[in-house]
Amino acid sequence: MVAEAHACDANAVAIADLRPTDEILELRARVRAFMEAHVYPNEPAFSREDEEADALVERLRGLAKEQGLWAPHLPPEAGGTSGSFLTYAHLNEEIGRSVWAQLIFGCQAPDAGNAEILWQFGTEEQKERWLRPLVAGEIRSFFSMTEPEVAGSDPTTLRTRAVREGDEWVIDGHKWFSSGAEGAAFGIVMAVTDPDADPHRRATQIVVPADTPGVEIVRAVPTMGHRGRGWTTHCEVRYTGVRVPIENTLGEIGDGFRIAQKRLGPGRIHHVMRWLGQMQRAFELMCSYALEREAFGGPLAEKQTVQNWIADSAAEIQACRLLTLDAAHKIDQGDEARVEVAVIKFYAARVLNDVIDRAVQVHGARGLTDETPLSTMYAMARGARIYDGPDEVHRMVVARRILKSFAAGDGWRFD
Ligand SMILES: Cc1cc2nc3c(=O)[nH]c(=O)nc-3n(C[C@H](O)[C@H](O)[C@H](O)COP(=O)(O)OP(=O)(O)OC[C@H]3O[C@@H](n4cnc5c(N)ncnc54)[C@H](O)[C@@H]3O)c2cc1C
Repeated sequence: MVAEAHACDANAVAIADLRPTDEILELRARVRAFMEAHVYPNEPAFSREDEEADALVERLRGLAKEQGLWAPHLPPEAGGTSGSFLTYAHLNEEIGRSVWAQLIFGCQAPDAGNAEILWQFGTEEQKERWLRPLVAGEIRSFFSMTEPEVAGSDPTTLRTRAVREGDEWVIDGHKWFSSGAEGAAFGIVMAVTDPDADPHRRATQIVVPADTPGVEIVRAVPTMGHRGRGWTTHCEVRYTGVRVPIENTLGEIGDGFRIAQKRLGPGRIHHVMRWLGQMQRAFELMCSYALEREAFGGPLAEKQTVQNWIADSAAEIQACRLLTLDAAHKIDQGDEARVEVAVIKFYAARVLNDVIDRAVQVHGARGLTDETPLSTMYAMARGARIYDGPDEVHRMVVARRILKSFAAGDGWRFD
C-alpha cells in the first residue's frame, strides 16, 4: 500500500508546478493593464462590428505588437511571444475575459490552430506564403471540416472529395460552420482523398486560397440571431471543381486525421483557457451585483440561493482552473494529455454555461440587456458544448480510455 502511494507521488504534478512564475505574473499584469486601458472600454464599439470597429481593432493590434504581447500562443521562432502552454493558460485568464481580446492579441480561433499546424506540418514554401502573414495578422484563415449532411462528431463520414489530376487536387464538397471564412485569405480543407483506405487514413488537409475559382461562400449562417461579420461569421461554403496544386497538401496524403488531432487537442485547451476568463468575469459581476441590489429588505447577497450559486461557482471555477493548468503543464512536458483535455473540454463548457446563467439570473432583466457583457457571453457560451466535439463525445473518449485501462488490469491513476 505504502509503495503504491509512493509510486503515485513520484508521478504527481505538484500544485506548485502550476503556479505562475514571477515572469508570468509580470506578463499577466501587462496584459491586464492593456485590457483595462484598451479592451473593456471599447467593447460596445467592437460589438457594433462595423468599419470603425475594424479600424479600432487594427490600431489595438498594432499596440499589442509594440508592447510585445502579440501571438502569445506561438514560440518566438514562429513569430509569437509564447513561453509555454502554462504561460498561455495564465495569460488567457485575462485575455479570455473579453470575447474580442483574442483578435486583438493575435491568438484568435481558428487562425491560432491553423498557424500551429502550418508551423508543425507546413513546407518552407507554405510557411512563407501562408504562415508568416497569418501570424503577422496581415491575413485571416478558416478551417473547413464540418459538413451539413453528415455528423461532424464522426468525421470518418465526411463526403467532400479531393481527386488527384496530374499535379493538382480537384475538390468538390459542401461544408458549413467554416468560422471566419468571410474575408479570409485561405482555408484548410479536410477532404477525402482515398475512400478505400482505413477510415482514419482516408482524409487529407489541403490549403485552399479563398479566391480559387469554385470556392463559393454561400452565406454566413446566423447563429442565435447573429449573422456576424468577417471573423465572427460561421460560413456555409461550397467547393465545385476547385483546383489547387498538390504542393498545397498539408503534411502527407492521408494524414488529415493525424493533423486534425494535433490541431484540435491544443485548440480545445485554448478554448477552455479563454472560458476561464469568461467564467471569472461572470462570477465577479454576479458577486458585485448581489452586494449592490436589494430586494425583500436586504441585498441579494444575503439570500441563501444566491449564496449557493456563488459558492458552487467558486468551487467549479477553481476545479476548472486546476484541471486546465494541469493539462497545460502535461502538454508542456511532451504528453498529449488526451484524457485531461477531453475532461476539461466537457466539464469547463458546462461550468461556463452554468456560471454565466447564474450571473444573468442574479441581474434579472438587466442580465439580458447589453448594459453588461453577460448577454453576449451567454450567447457565445452555448456553442462551447458543441464546437470541437460535443460534450457527449468527450465523455465517451474519457470513459473508453479509463475502461480500456481497467480492462487491461491497470486501473486508473489520478496523477
Ligand atoms: C460556434 C461554432 C463554431 C464552429 N467552427 C467550426 C469551424 O471553424 N470549422 C469546422 O469544420 N467546424 C466548426 N464547427 C462545427 C463543430 O465542430 C460541429 O458542430 C461539431 O463537431 C458537432 O458536429 P455536428 O454539429 O454535425 O453535430 P452531430 O455530429 O450531428 O451531433 C449532434 C448531437 O448528437 C449527439 N452525439 C453525437 N455523438 C454522440 C455520441 N457518441 N454519444 C451521444 N451523443 C452523441 C451530441 O449531443 C451532438 O450535439 C463549429 C461549431 C460551432 C457551434
